[in-house]
Amino acid sequence: MNAPAVEARDVYRFYHAGDDETLALRGVSLAVAPGEMVAVMGPSGSGKSTLLLCLAGLEEPDGGFVAVGGVRMTRRPEWRRAALRARAIGVLLQAGNLVEHLSVADNVRLQLHLAQRTTADIGAMLDAVGLRDRARSRADQLSGGEASRAALAVALAAEPVVLLADEPTGDVDAATEMMILDLLRRRVAGGTAAVIATHSEAVARCADRVVTLRDGRVTGD
Ligand code: ADP
Repeated sequence: MNAPAVEARDVYRFYHAGDDETLALRGVSLAVAPGEMVAVMGPSGSGKSTLLLCLAGLEEPDGGFVAVGGVRMTRRPEWRRAALRARAIGVLLQAGNLVEHLSVADNVRLQLHLAQRTTADIGAMLDAVGLRDRARSRADQLSGGEASRAALAVALAAEPVVLLADEPTGDVDAATEMMILDLLRRRVAGGTAAVIATHSEAVARCADRVVTLRDGRVTGD
């Protein structure tokens, strides 16, 4: 069998604040194949964002490991994790995805540069998220919904092996949600894997599989 696009094997993540310990992830395993879209659902605080951060190598698991395209991400030096992330992962967090003082097009260019991609049709990428006419706008002048779409264009720009998205449709209307889901489905049909943390039933219906977290554990899929 081919390596999963992304895999979490028995991942634990604990947070400490003073004497308090939060068991954010307690042995989560998940394997997502190329061309598969998985929705991660569950109540607030169940560990969805922490799981995505661990999959992206932005948080280091306290136990278990993450691999991307068969390459281990966990317990590697930061520069290796950053290189793997730039090359293979598109990350869309709930905030802080864009460099605020750069234009939308330059945000996409920066991502392509980090991934060492030389050719790309930035106009077509912005078309796909309905933002061609905002290409020269500074990121800090976008509405919430426009910023979500720009962040998606950035995350998908370098044609990553896997897209990790935290509530990508949390800030958009129903019509825009359908546009985003249509784009995601097309990318997934082309072989990209997608892991989407969401509360949206529309996203869940669009996914190939739903994984539900509760108190840091997978309860069903
Ligand atoms: P979800 O995305 O499902 O809402 P999170 O992964 O954000 O869940 O949070 C899981 C648990 O970890 C929650 O109890 C949350 O309060 C805690 N948590 C998340 N991030 C941190 C952090 N940086 N420091 C301390 N606790 C955190």
